[in-house]
Amino acid sequence: MERTLSIIKPDGVGKNIIGEVIRRFETNGIKIAAMKMIHLTKPQAEGFYAVHKERPFFGSLTDFMTSGPIVVMVLQGEDVIAKNRKLMGATNFKEAEEGTIRKEFATDIEKNVVHGSDAPETAAFEIGYFFNDLEIQNR
Ligand code: GDP
Repeated sequence: MERTLSIIKPDGVGKNIIGEVIRRFETNGIKIAAMKMIHLTKPQAEGFYAVHKERPFFGSLTDFMTSGPIVVMVLQGEDVIAKNRKLMGATNFKEAEEGTIRKEFATDIEKNVVHGSDAPETAAFEIGYFFNDLEIQNR
């Protein structure tokens, strides 16, 4: 059993597709183990994306991530990190496979609807950034 962090980004929340994204997780055997809606401050977004701080898009990305509320979730299931990444599709929606969340709903490389941890180490950091153990259900 594995866990990963999923975020429905401000563009996804703004498009009213919270339910659509969660439906895709649940119909693909993924359990929601924790969930909340929050509005990040700029320092909170910068802390979350600290690995990208040298990238040219860091300022723009952290502005975007603070532009509205987000839904953060802990997903649980077998091989859930890879499974979630497959459901999301490639970072650039133009390169994403048909039927993926980003292919269907993203509008540019930055406003790409969802975030998902890319490895067990990043998942552990990202889950801990938003949730404590008492807030996560074992399911
Ligand atoms: P992910 O793991 O698929 O989310 O992709 P990355 O970890 O490489 O990038 C993190 C996030 O930064 C992406 O989901 C996008 O929102 C944003 N991003 C990535 N590449 C670019 C880029 O070239 N330009 C801009 N503006 N944003 C980007």
